[in-house]
Amino acid sequence: MKLLSSNELKMLHENRVANLDRKQIMPAHIEQLMIDLSVRNDIESRLVGHSFSGLPISCFSIGTGPIKVLMWSQMHGDESTATAAVLDILHLLSSEDTKPLLNDRLDTNWQNLITLHIVPMLNPDGAQAATRENAQCIDINRDALALQTPEGKILDSLVTELCPDYAFNLHDQHDYYRCGVDGKSSTLAFLAPAFDVDKTVNLSRRKAMALIALMKSQSNSLLPKGIARYDDEFSARSFGDQIAKREVSTILIESGHYPDDANREVARTMNVCVLIHALNMLCNQDNWNTDEKLEALEEKYWQIPENQEYKLCDILIKNVGFAEGSYTADIAIRKNSRFKNAFVVAEIGDLHEQFGLRTIDASGYIYNSGRPYLLDEKLQLNEESYFSLLKQGFSHFVGDPVLLANQTDYVTIDNPKFWHDDQRMLLGIVPAGFLSKDGKLKYAIIESDVIPL
Ligand SMILES: [Zn+2]
Repeated sequence: MKLLSSNELKMLHENRVANLDRKQIMPAHIEQLMIDLSVRNDIESRLVGHSFSGLPISCFSIGTGPIKVLMWSQMHGDESTATAAVLDILHLLSSEDTKPLLNDRLDTNWQNLITLHIVPMLNPDGAQAATRENAQCIDINRDALALQTPEGKILDSLVTELCPDYAFNLHDQHDYYRCGVDGKSSTLAFLAPAFDVDKTVNLSRRKAMALIALMKSQSNSLLPKGIARYDDEFSARSFGDQIAKREVSTILIESGHYPDDANREVARTMNVCVLIHALNMLCNQDNWNTDEKLEALEEKYWQIPENQEYKLCDILIKNVGFAEGSYTADIAIRKNSRFKNAFVVAEIGDLHEQFGLRTIDASGYIYNSGRPYLLDEKLQLNEESYFSLLKQGFSHFVGDPVLLANQTDYVTIDNPKFWHDDQRMLLGIVPAGFLSKDGKLKYAIIESDVIPL
């Protein structure tokens, strides 16, 4: 990954904890690490409760200073990028090997100025099942008022007990958020959440905005176009908004996509980078925490480009002709979920405001939906035989999928749901069809592959 060649990020990346370079972090992946961290001299760890199905939830504390900071990650079980990041931070701050590496990045007296509390995995049941919700199927982040989940109660009690001055609410967003209007993926998105429908900016919210502006300028040279500002519509049920209402300076960070980085290692390392910078800023408040400077930083916060949803897709095929060329439309293909490589047709029509992670101009080509190949005996598929079937217009297989042995690097589609054999593209289907020109099939579109024939 190109970005990680910068010295700053390289050091942080090289000193991350092992075994967490993965899309989904589950409780078993961090169990030993949590034990190792808990016996470090500087760290105090304690059990703060149990999930609905009885898994332990721990909080780590480091530092003894008067400025109290609370961070929590993975309240949505399938959003684990920042879990790796906060564990990296605990490691960096407490290992004798790594502490000196932070000397010119973090005030050496920080432990006397800040007490940092971290809950790395608030929703272990959701983490185990790779679901957003907990084992009650409740979204913990919509339970801030009702408090019917044990995990939500734990977070609420921690805020009451610890009275943090600053709270960091750490999440993941889907791949298709982009940053402002130029189409770049939004690798980090920040928000100082509103605490009322009028989106009032009081002192604690302004401080959160100022810290975000400072974190953004710290990362400008590293990720100039990949940082966005999340929408601040008030959501009374959400924890960030409710904690902000308690006059805690609250910061939401959403980790997102970076090209060729399926496990979001770039977002992970950027989290480490900006969070350590935020701690450093909290140690040096003269630099920014005055009325005048807060006002200027709030202005900078509003200048961060907005996080734009649903304007990105995996594959954008532009100007496809349908029904023998009687009309044209663009097609957006998106992954069904970050965790399954299942691609579907997400939008059809004039998508000129969209951006594709990959874009194909199909001007002059006509779409054909292809036909099914019946599996009634064993079929070994190598590249040559698959291409031969594609060239004959077979776009997918029906029958017993066990009979098919795919030895190619290409995907095959068997027994697709909602198959149709007319010449339209339909929403929600797995892409399986062809682009033709002058009556000849030129490209096969099979799930996320666009294969020249
Ligand atoms: Zn989330």
